[in-house]
Amino acid sequence: MSRISFDNTEVAFADKTASELRRALWLFRFIGNTSLVKFSAPFVTTAFKTGLPVKRLVRNTVFRHFCGGENISDCEPAINKLWKSRIGTILDYSVEGQQMESDFDSTCNEILSTIEMASGNEALPFSVFKMTGIARVALLEKVNSLIKLSQAEENEFTRVKKRVEKICILSHEKYVPVFFDAEESWIQNVMDALAHEMMQRFNKEKAIVFNTVQLYRTDRLNYLSRMIEDARTKGYMGAFKLVRGAYHEQEAERAIANDYEIPIFGKKYETDNAFNQALEICMDNIDAVALCSGTHNEKSCELLVELMQKKNIPVNDKRIWFAQLYGMSDHISYNLSKAGYNVAKYVPYGKVEAVLPYLIRRAQENKSVAGQSSRELSLIMTELKRRRSSGL
Ligand SMILES: Cc1cc2nc3c(=O)[nH]c(=O)nc-3n(C[C@H](O)[C@H](O)[C@H](O)COP(=O)(O)OP(=O)(O)OC[C@H]3O[C@@H](n4cnc5c(N)ncnc54)[C@H](O)[C@@H]3O)c2cc1C
Repeated sequence: MSRISFDNTEVAFADKTASELRRALWLFRFIGNTSLVKFSAPFVTTAFKTGLPVKRLVRNTVFRHFCGGENISDCEPAINKLWKSRIGTILDYSVEGQQMESDFDSTCNEILSTIEMASGNEALPFSVFKMTGIARVALLEKVNSLIKLSQAEENEFTRVKKRVEKICILSHEKYVPVFFDAEESWIQNVMDALAHEMMQRFNKEKAIVFNTVQLYRTDRLNYLSRMIEDARTKGYMGAFKLVRGAYHEQEAERAIANDYEIPIFGKKYETDNAFNQALEICMDNIDAVALCSGTHNEKSCELLVELMQKKNIPVNDKRIWFAQLYGMSDHISYNLSKAGYNVAKYVPYGKVEAVLPYLIRRAQENKSVAGQSSRELSLIMTELKRRRSSGL
């Protein structure tokens, strides 16, 4: 069995200029600084709300690094650059937490545009949406808690379901698989139920609708096994994006504040074990499952490569994908793609102020995860050094 290596920085940063690398170096140094991030996240949020002129600063730093642009056409250079290395783009309209019906309709229309654009385009292998981009969080929370809805809320929820249905119908019509992103546990049941319904409807011949499973949750291995069993029994493809989960701090804080059992693991290795077990479960059922492993964790990526090799599954088997976020872990994406694996990157886009929650999550993730930003830093430094010593 041959091991995949993520150490080749020449491959990893082939499409980055030295000045782009130096900018990334500065950025990861900044977000690797716990106290700076702790201070800047609330400052920037308040500054946007009160009209302080921070937009340019954010646009030229974190936004430029982690996002494709403000609209789909802005993202074209990123799409083309990634595709030159056979890395697909998942256009991620990263607007969340809105309140108005008109905003939800326009977000839904934007997602439909990403599906139209991806139709027949190998460089755009998936589309994605976040439920909180097309529905009010408070409504989702109420439905999730099985609280009785007023007539107006019933009507509002019917409109939410219509938006979800529209997205899945178009994905099915255009053969563009779509991810339901996962969010906080207090709104996740309602999303799981909708994703399940859509999977049964649209995954009969091919995996079109993917639900996301967050393995930091203590109940998710059971959930995954139940879903696979259901897919087998009813004869549709179970399709899953596996992630560790992006709301670790919020989940713990809310459970403590409201005095209920914390629904997530408290130790990193427990989440890691669950994630790796989920990979094994999917691979043991690969005849009935399509899988996208959404992670920057090298060990988990190595494990999936190993499991594929053990089962003699070709590197480019269409049921198995690796995915990372734009601006992160290029050493994984580019080296996997070079070895022939199916790789895609989320390329978030949207107005700077609208993608702020996404950017803050990325900054917090990079400061809270020991090693993530230092790994990025050391790879960038290695590459800069390599270029200097080769006279490039
Ligand atoms: C393509 C892609 C799509 C994604 N989609 C979603 C999505 O739909 N929903 C979503 O929630 N997230 C999503 N994420 C983010 C993801 O959940 C992780 O937050 C992020 O990828 C970091 O985890 P990792 O596996 O890459 O790496 P690692 O650095 O190995 O793991 C970090 C993760 O470990 C977990 N963790 C950290 N500390 C602890 C601890 N003390 N105890 C237990 N667990 C801990 C947390 O989940 C943390 O995010 C996505 C990520 C990618 C790459």
